[in-house]
Amino acid sequence: MREVLRRNLDEVRGRMAAACERAGRAPDSVRLVAVTKTVGPEVVRLLAALGVREVGENRVQQARAKRERLGGDLGLRWHMVGRLQTNKVRHALRLFAMIHSVDRFGLAQEIERRAERQGQPTHVLIQCNTSGEETKAGVDEPELIRLLDRVMELEHVRVRGLMTMAPIVEDPEEARPFFARLRRLAKKARAATGLPLGELSMGMSQDFEVAIEEGATMLRVGSALFRDLATPTA
Ligand SMILES: *Cc1c(COP(=O)(O)O)cnc(C)c1O
Repeated sequence: MREVLRRNLDEVRGRMAAACERAGRAPDSVRLVAVTKTVGPEVVRLLAALGVREVGENRVQQARAKRERLGGDLGLRWHMVGRLQTNKVRHALRLFAMIHSVDRFGLAQEIERRAERQGQPTHVLIQCNTSGEETKAGVDEPELIRLLDRVMELEHVRVRGLMTMAPIVEDPEEARPFFARLRRLAKKARAATGLPLGELSMGMSQDFEVAIEEGATMLRVGSALFRDLATPTA
């Protein structure tokens, strides 16, 4: 299992490096967040041993169970990449270094309330709907500026940037317009709010190279890392 995982990880890292080279970007300007929602704690342990530093989960309960079985965070930075219910915020703040999926003010307010109580600011991204697909979470452009204006006032919520999910596509090139849109949104929002918004969380297994070319700083990659891995699911 370890060798298969190493091979997949080497391949993803190699493709990341090549995409950075093509785009004229420094290799360390893009971070890999291994999305571990489909694998169990033993795989997370192996990833950490192979030098992965950041992992992502899309459900609070699953992340919690996994962390309990691991007996700690293994020195990894844990990212919440899925939809977050307000009533799970308290647990989420204990588990995650960053929340990628803030898409409404009520959620930001609850994060503020809990983060203040814990005496520690929380780093978040605003999830944007760049495709207009109704099934996708996230705010559109006018909502984004309005949301940022209000979230900026929350002392314990630190907005680091934006996140998006492209639609499922056959050809990675088809995802490019959505990533380009997020980059432009960040630029507009920077101008409108003065926030640095340096982080762009975009690109998954199907399209991460295109995301790098369009300015991604964080890739959320799952299935490409776990190909051919004979392991029970999480
Ligand atoms: C599962 C998931 C990913 C990773 O998707 P893959 O196609 O497996 O790389 C990225 N982002 C989010 C929000 C996810 O839920």
